[in-house]
Amino acid sequence: NNQVQLNLDRNDELGELANAITRLSTDLDRLKRERNEFLSSISHELRTPLTYIKGYADIAGRAGASEDEKREYISIIREETAHLTELIRQLFELAQLDHNQFPIQKKAVSVNALFESVAALVRPAFEDKNITLKVHCQPDVTAFIDRERFQQVLLNILDNARKYSDKGSHVTLLGRLEKDTVLMIVSDEGNGIPEEELPMVFDRLYRVDKSRSRQYGGSGLGLAIAKEIVESHGGRIAIQSDYGKGTTVRIVLERGEPVAEGFVGGR
Ligand code: ADP
Repeated sequence: NNQVQLNLDRNDELGELANAITRLSTDLDRLKRERNEFLSSISHELRTPLTYIKGYADIAGRAGASEDEKREYISIIREETAHLTELIRQLFELAQLDHNQFPIQKKAVSVNALFESVAALVRPAFEDKNITLKVHCQPDVTAFIDRERFQQVLLNILDNARKYSDKGSHVTLLGRLEKDTVLMIVSDEGNGIPEEELPMVFDRLYRVDKSRSRQYGGSGLGLAIAKEIVESHGGRIAIQSDYGKGTTVRIVLERGEPVAEGFVGGR
């Protein structure tokens, strides 16, 4: 009887092993497919601005182009170059995050102070578009985060809120404690995102409206970077949207010890 039981157990184990191998191989196929799709999207994203740059450089150099035309072409070349530079910077940032090249350095950070410094950075761009940015944080909220990385997260999200909102609208950045976590919320009254596209917006290079996004200068990497950073902190990020009415991004994070900023927390 014991012998039969042993053989049965062994069969179960072998079966489980075979299942695990099948799952691994499916995962590997999926990863390969995703990598190929990502690479072909990247080449497309890099080629498009280069095509514009080459085309406008060619016609600007042609005999007969007026000074006004040349100025216009050069300005397009500048914009496309800036777009390309930003795209490459973001790709590089993602590659660094993927390879964990600069491990996150968590410290207890005052969320109020973080919000203030981020708001100071984005304010000129918001004012340019006449969008009001309201910032509010409960006093003494401390998050256990890498401050620089998180600055990037908030910059990416606020930049979207500004880009995809009309002149005259409002954007709010809120911070508060909820139970044992820190909550950061960015909401806008902008274009919104169709419900069926919401699950994809954190994917690399995904943009909701390709032609419109081009005009806004987006690359489709901002939210992917934000998600990567939030999750590497053990936090969660979620997006909610009412198409045509506005969008809300919520981040939930581990709470830091309520001490003065600058305290170097260890794990
Ligand atoms: P991008 O650089 O194109 O803004 P993101 O990864 O930051 O890339 O965002 C992905 C896409 O999600 C954007 O192209 C845009 O279509 C949509 N999106 C993100 N945030 C917002 C928002 N606040 N309002 C409306 N659409 C948004």
